[in-house]
Amino acid sequence: MSIDLHIHSTFSDGTMSPTELVCLARHRKLSAIAITDHDTTDGIDEAIEAGGQMGLTVVPGVELSVKHDNINLHLLGYFFDHRQPEFLQALHKLQEGRLTRNRRILEVLRQLGIDIELAELLEIAGPGGQSGRPHIAQLLIGKGVVKTMDEAFEIFLGQGGSAYVPRFIFTGAEAISLIHRAGGLAVLAHPQQLEKSTGNFARIIEDLHRQGLDGIEVYYPTHSKQFRKLLQRLVQKHDLLKTGGSDYHGAIRPGTTLAGGKNCVVPDQLLVEMTERLARQRNTFITEVIA
Ligand SMILES: [Zn+2]
Ligand SMILES: [Zn+2]
Repeated sequence: MSIDLHIHSTFSDGTMSPTELVCLARHRKLSAIAITDHDTTDGIDEAIEAGGQMGLTVVPGVELSVKHDNINLHLLGYFFDHRQPEFLQALHKLQEGRLTRNRRILEVLRQLGIDIELAELLEIAGPGGQSGRPHIAQLLIGKGVVKTMDEAFEIFLGQGGSAYVPRFIFTGAEAISLIHRAGGLAVLAHPQQLEKSTGNFARIIEDLHRQGLDGIEVYYPTHSKQFRKLLQRLVQKHDLLKTGGSDYHGAIRPGTTLAGGKNCVVPDQLLVEMTERLARQRNTFITEVIA
């Protein structure tokens, strides 16, 4: 049976609500999912409730952009307490950073002669959702400025683009520590992107491992067998966990789907290994505190 531990909902840049995603996961006969929205845990309670009603395990999840040696990468958090005040405060800081950046991007676009109102952006992001660059890209496509999401990032929104604006993010070490203090596991997301952007791929994983990284997302739709083997070696070398997911965003990324079937299959055994590791770590942590 497959699981899917990397899914985005309308609470960030996905196009389906947590309840709709739980329904779809049931339909695809998945045994467990995690909603991993960018910088927010607001969709988790809805997903857990829908999962309870439909008989699907829902693991609390989140995806955080972090920097490590001037390289941007994504970390996934799992099994943390999604109501822990310190964790929520950290997310709030990231959300404020997003808003500030969105306003700045719209200002720069206006200077370039492209008019997008903040209200339009908030509307397309949906009520309570985290608005971000994919939504601005959607508006640019809608206004006929660019044809595709890739084009929007290349010309305007991505690093090196004419309307690129950085935002506040934590370092890898800070994010790992935040996830750990909330009782969770920290995992490197889609390592292929990291491999493409740096020549020091293995060293970065080694650094992150030293900072407490618990696992790597080995199963991912674009990972070849060969790349999975390379990751497998790193996982064994550093005694890391393996995770996997589709990074499904719904209709915003046409041609993508949840895990299982012909897409990537993520063995449900991985979830057992994650919970076992968590139990061991929590025990160690308690012993450390008592000592
Ligand atoms: Zn990501
Ligand atoms: Zn993602």
